[in-house]
Amino acid sequence: MTEPLLRIEGLRAAYGECPVLEDLAFSVAPGETVALLGRNGAGKTTTLRALVGLVPHRSGQIRLDGADLMPLPPHHLARCGIGYVPEERGVYASLTVAENLALPRGRGNGMPMERILALFPNLAERWDSAGTDLSGGEQQMLAIARVLRMGIRLLVLDEPTEGLAPAIVQRIGAVLQDLRRDGMTILLVEQNFRFARRVADRFLLMEHGRITANLTKAELPEHENRLSERLGV
Ligand code: ATP
Repeated sequence: MTEPLLRIEGLRAAYGECPVLEDLAFSVAPGETVALLGRNGAGKTTTLRALVGLVPHRSGQIRLDGADLMPLPPHHLARCGIGYVPEERGVYASLTVAENLALPRGRGNGMPMERILALFPNLAERWDSAGTDLSGGEQQMLAIARVLRMGIRLLVLDEPTEGLAPAIVQRIGAVLQDLRRDGMTILLVEQNFRFARRVADRFLLMEHGRITANLTKAELPEHENRLSERLGV
C-alpha cells in the first residue's frame, strides 16, 4: 500500500474549553483528492485550521510524508509543502494580481508562471488589477494560484466554490481536475456535494468532530442516499 502523504491520528482541538475535534483520524494518499463533507458546525473548517496550526489547543499527530508537523507554527507550513486557502481566500486586496503572485516564498520549485496562467487565463487578463477589483471567482483563482506558486505538495481548500456563480464553479472544478492530473494531492472542505462528487476520489463524512464515513468514489453510489440524508442535501 502507498504511504499516505498526509496522516492525521488522534487529533483533538478545542476553542477554549469547548472541544470541537475528538480523536480525529484520516489520511490522504499522494495524488488523491479527498473531500471533507458535513453539515454546518461539524468541525470541517476546524480540521483544516488545526492541520495548519491555526487552532491553539490541539493534540494528536499530523504527519506530512512521515514528518511530524505538530510542533510547527503556521508560517513554516508553506516551507513543508502545505498550501492552505481559507474560506476568506487570503489574497492581498490592495496589491495587483501580478504582485500577489510575486510574493509567495515557499520551498522553491513553485509552479512556473506559464503553467499558472495556463490554468487561470483570467488572471493574465487581470494582471494589473488590484485584489479589490476582482470578482469572487477571480479572487478564489488568485488565492489558489498564490499557494501553487509556493511549491506545495498538498493543496488544502476551504469551501472553494462558496458564493460563486455556476460557470465559475465549473471552471474551478476543471482546474482541480487538471491539478489532480498533474499529480497534486488535494484536501478540500465542500458544502456543494455535486461539486465534491465531480472532483474527489474519496469522501469523508464528518459529524460532531469525528469522521463517520469514509467512501471511495466507487463506493459512493451505494451509500449516496444515506450520505445525502446525513448532509441534509
Ligand atoms: P461551517 O460549514 O458552518 O463552517 P464546519 O463544519 O466548518 O461548519 P467549524 O467552523 O469547524 O464547522 O465549527 C465547528 C464548531 O466550532 C462549531 O460549533 C462552531 O460554532 C465552533 N467554532 C468555530 N470557530 C470557533 C471559534 N473561533 N471560537 C469558538 N467556537 C468556534
